Amino acid sequence: MSAPGDGVTNGHTNAQLFARSCEVIPGGVNSSIRAFKAVGGTPYLVARAEGPYVWDVEGTRYIDLVQSYGAIILGHAHPDITAAISSAAALGTSYGAPTPGEMLLAEQIRERVPSCERVRLMNSGTEATSTAVRLSRGFTGRDRLVIFHGNFHGATDALLAAGGSGVATLGLPGTAGVPASAVANTLVVPYNEVPRLDDQVAAVFVEPVAANMGVVAPAPGFLAGLRAECDRVGALLVFDEVITGFRLQRGGAQAKYLVRADITTFGKVIGGGLPIGAVGGRRDVMETLTPLGKVFHAGTLAGNPLATAAGRAVLHHLSDDAYATLARRATRLAGLLGDACSAAGLSASFPVVGTLVGMYFGDGPNPTNFEQAKTTDERVYAAFFHAMLREGVALAPGAYEALFVGLGHTDDVLDAIGVAASAAALATVATLAA
Ligand SMILES: *Cc1c(COP(=O)(O)O)cnc(C)c1O
Repeated sequence: MSAPGDGVTNGHTNAQLFARSCEVIPGGVNSSIRAFKAVGGTPYLVARAEGPYVWDVEGTRYIDLVQSYGAIILGHAHPDITAAISSAAALGTSYGAPTPGEMLLAEQIRERVPSCERVRLMNSGTEATSTAVRLSRGFTGRDRLVIFHGNFHGATDALLAAGGSGVATLGLPGTAGVPASAVANTLVVPYNEVPRLDDQVAAVFVEPVAANMGVVAPAPGFLAGLRAECDRVGALLVFDEVITGFRLQRGGAQAKYLVRADITTFGKVIGGGLPIGAVGGRRDVMETLTPLGKVFHAGTLAGNPLATAAGRAVLHHLSDDAYATLARRATRLAGLLGDACSAAGLSASFPVVGTLVGMYFGDGPNPTNFEQAKTTDERVYAAFFHAMLREGVALAPGAYEALFVGLGHTDDVLDAIGVAASAAALATVATLAA
């Protein structure tokens, strides 16, 4: 079988092709984290993937714990997903008209996450969070947003605000290109502390389990406290479940913590590796979207038939049993990595929340907020990352990413990760001592 790019990759190294990419794509990547800037070195270019593995253009195989940053949960190129996409593609790839397939996926989302009385499909997690921003402001008639330091909501201007040092900060852009006016109404507060709100707040956006600063569980009472505080002032509670949705358990974080969000954003798992995003929520809130209401939303490819076919095929496999398996594997993975590091004398912890595994390179207890999470030793992580890669295991090239265990990571594969981690932890200690 020939894949696009085959003619190009033959006989070329990662370094050669990456250099060529850099001549046409800024930094050689289409999403910044992929550039290895945080860990140094040259990224491998993926030629193909199957189950728990990716192969680079040089033919080197890695056990993959990136899994498209959580978009893949059944393993790469799962035959049922591939078949669903192929059959859908043969019927046309986009129409600009409603389809039964998008209806079915929206029904399945609502069935799993009952707070999503209505669901609107779109193309990415970023589109979902930016729609949720507009929707919450349009519904409440208020402008103020509250977000948590260290949570990530995609490349949405109003949510790209810089956080301060453990105190509330208002209105500092988190990146060049975001005008101060875009975040003038965005308040950044510490994770795991319920902020006191006032009646200017349209919405509180939260990752119900933080999975972009390592993996940080919500403290007992944190999410319920947010729910109560939002209710007190008439603000909307927005759960960003782009990672936790359909990964943590059948009903996502709201099922695990028994707190109902007004609006929920989804992405990643729900597209089976194809571009997708979704916003779900209370009927009265969701019906504020056009064409019923006054808050504009549109998308040429929204509800795409390939993405919705893939999503339905993924959900078909995600039974309670599947989540129990994933949770067991997550715990086992964390145990193997933790044992390997402690045997080598490397201070690290691998916190587990359900099916999610995080990493923290340091002595302290597991972080509970970003101030603590950022004390992770990025130099140690960079050494460990490269040592793991040499042992044939691909982690994300950044110290704050989660490790994504999927149904493709069978016990044999986990054993192999354990063996690799033992060697990599020793190599890391040696590298750091040199
Ligand atoms: C990945 C992510 C997003 C952005 O989704 P994209 O599909 O990359 O735009 C938003 N929120 C969270 C919590 C994420 O992890």
